[in-house]
Amino acid sequence: MVVKILIDNAAHKLNKVYDYKIKEENEELVELGKRVRVNFGSGKGSSREGIIVKILKDEESDKLDKLKRVEEILDENSYLDEKRLSLAKWMSKMYFCNVYTALKLMLPPTPNKKLEQKELVGKQITVVALDKTKEEIESDIESRKITSARHIKLLRELEDNNNIPIEDIINTLGISRNIIKTVEEKGYIKLVKQDTAIEDYSKITRTEKLTPTIEQKRTIDGIIRNLDTFRVSLIHGITGSGKTEVYLQIIEECLNRGKDAIVLVPEISLTDQTKRRFISRFGEVVSVLHSKMTTLERQTEYKRIVKGKAKIVIGPRSALFVPFKNLGLIIIDEEHDTSYVSQTTPKYNTREVATRLAFLNNANLVLGSATPDVCTMYKAMEEKIDYYSMLTRPGTSVIPEVEIVDMKQDAVVNKSRILSTRLKEEIEENIKRKEQAFVFLNRRGFSSYITCKTCGKTLRCPNCDVNLTYHRKNGLLLCHYCSYCEKLSDICPICSADTLEEGGMGTERVEKELLETFPGITTLRLDMDTTVKRGSHERILNEFKEKNVDVLVGTQMISKGHDIPNVTLVGVVNADYMAGDDYTVSEKAFSNLLQVAGRAGRGDKKGRVILQAYDTENYILNSVSENSYLDFYEQEIKFRKMAGYPPFVDIVVVELTSKDKTKLMKDSEKIYNIFNKEKSLYKVYSPKAPFVSKINNKYRIQMIIKTKVDNKVLDKLIENMDIYDKIKDVSVTVSLVKNPVRLG
Ligand code: ADP
Ligand code: ZN
Repeated sequence: MVVKILIDNAAHKLNKVYDYKIKEENEELVELGKRVRVNFGSGKGSSREGIIVKILKDEESDKLDKLKRVEEILDENSYLDEKRLSLAKWMSKMYFCNVYTALKLMLPPTPNKKLEQKELVGKQITVVALDKTKEEIESDIESRKITSARHIKLLRELEDNNNIPIEDIINTLGISRNIIKTVEEKGYIKLVKQDTAIEDYSKITRTEKLTPTIEQKRTIDGIIRNLDTFRVSLIHGITGSGKTEVYLQIIEECLNRGKDAIVLVPEISLTDQTKRRFISRFGEVVSVLHSKMTTLERQTEYKRIVKGKAKIVIGPRSALFVPFKNLGLIIIDEEHDTSYVSQTTPKYNTREVATRLAFLNNANLVLGSATPDVCTMYKAMEEKIDYYSMLTRPGTSVIPEVEIVDMKQDAVVNKSRILSTRLKEEIEENIKRKEQAFVFLNRRGFSSYITCKTCGKTLRCPNCDVNLTYHRKNGLLLCHYCSYCEKLSDICPICSADTLEEGGMGTERVEKELLETFPGITTLRLDMDTTVKRGSHERILNEFKEKNVDVLVGTQMISKGHDIPNVTLVGVVNADYMAGDDYTVSEKAFSNLLQVAGRAGRGDKKGRVILQAYDTENYILNSVSENSYLDFYEQEIKFRKMAGYPPFVDIVVVELTSKDKTKLMKDSEKIYNIFNKEKSLYKVYSPKAPFVSKINNKYRIQMIIKTKVDNKVLDKLIENMDIYDKIKDVSVTVSLVKNPVRLG
């Protein structure tokens, strides 16, 4: 028997496969998609991992005697099939990565024979957690207090993904126990014991399905009617309209038809409560995956999946790639969430890959959101995908009343720029009624933009419709898009008043002011700083709920997860602040505000929402106060069309990095010129340094290309890659930033 093997760790042009022989006694173990160990290239230390992508008979190979043998077959089960191989090939083209890199997303960690025996339910594991903030660590790296490359690697890994099981650090990052110990002694990390993530299904109480409301029934029936064909639907349902119940009921139908379902949620909203709703409805056919699981836990779940014991998987974007053989349904909840766009290679868009996967499996894709991504909504409006709207809440819970407070006027009678007169009145009222409040900030305690207290405007780029970003270190205002740059002056360029100030204020400051204004009240804080540990998000929310704490101050984290019926007031301190400076900034701001507003009055008491802003005349705030996604959408889509942004174009980013700054500048001009020859295929914008212009001592330059991606464009971009490959000391990555749902 001969197998074709795709080898790990080969250069991107080496998507080529290689023939290997199989020892006779191993033939029975051979299966498409299994991982193997082979010798690749010459020399003794040339052992590599590979994947079987094709199985041939001896006579189909012409150079049988010259072939090397596969050393070892690593996987007990195969996690890949033809469809997934085809998906990986498609991803490799779409996202400019190796096929192998895409396939890795679909595989559990390579089995380690030593780890496999343990029973997991009810056991504890040890995880490594940061014991200092990201800022403290980065500042220590910069000031060279930490210099060891391996220490830095460990810390950076934990910055990206805190709480990694110790066994995974040793096995997959190749960092030894000793190094972990040293870094622990230096006070940067600590070891924490926690319960295993494997569910104990013996402890579940089952729940029955609810009688659907008219809107729910229309949605469920509509989707079920087309359940056996490839179909994409958008459920546009306000928060609390009962989308989750709809998911549960279509999943039930999917299981009845003998098919499996994947449910994707943003990692942050994969709360215990969400998990429970699925597990209590379906029991042990539910498998929960998330990024904080250990290798062993993940392998346990993957085995349950390939053996057909799990039929529903819930998890963040990575759960899209689980090895179901008979996939019938993919649900993406909060489909607009930014966590669905991967920031690491391959930089894929989950919605788009899910569309492709559904297409390959003749399955259904259901996208749900209260604030759909503008690109998704556009598809629905153009009738390229099915559209269901759910605009009421089951039961007695009503939509909260939203009030916009003009902070410019408030400043005449009120010294505080954090708590407006109206918000203070309402908080006082809440305290009297023993009801609870959220006070929400869009950001943590640092500032990066400049507003004028007199005219209320934020300083914008003259060439682009984005906020300028303030860099305090050098006193410069920069545009992330066109590289426009100016020095911050003392007077406002719009109204000439000398009242410019850095925007933004931290959650800590808000909490302090609340305690000073209302002595004796209880408060809690929920932000990145207070939720470093796994489970702390849950813990804070539980404490807030159980101890009836008066006010919870937090960042956008508040907007997701728990329903707390006694929360009847939501205040947003800086409602007109927009986090970010790309074209999606308005949609992010809108969806955040609407989500947050939706947190008020989830029980039977009516909720109130107060939005504090300087710039009160903007369509985002007005659409939030009207509680109208459609108002927002209509304005936004007009703007996108005019300015040439998705869904009307696709944006491709070419990024160059190098240690050599001069060479980088020169080469970026060269590459720009190569691209610029193809004016009929796309429009290229001149190279510029991105916001973070140096990472790890490597300088970065970016070029933005606006195009309509099709095979011709992709082929051209890939062809250009051959040219970049010849450029020494500069590495080039190409990524598709943002794409509308594409069919087929
Ligand atoms: P969404 O996912 O749209 O935010 P949920 O599914 O969480 O909404 O529903 C909000 C609340 O309404 C939940 O407490 C849920 O149990 C309840 N609910 C949903 N559908 C029904 C129904 N058909 N009858 C009664 N209660 C329902
Ligand atoms: Zn600009």
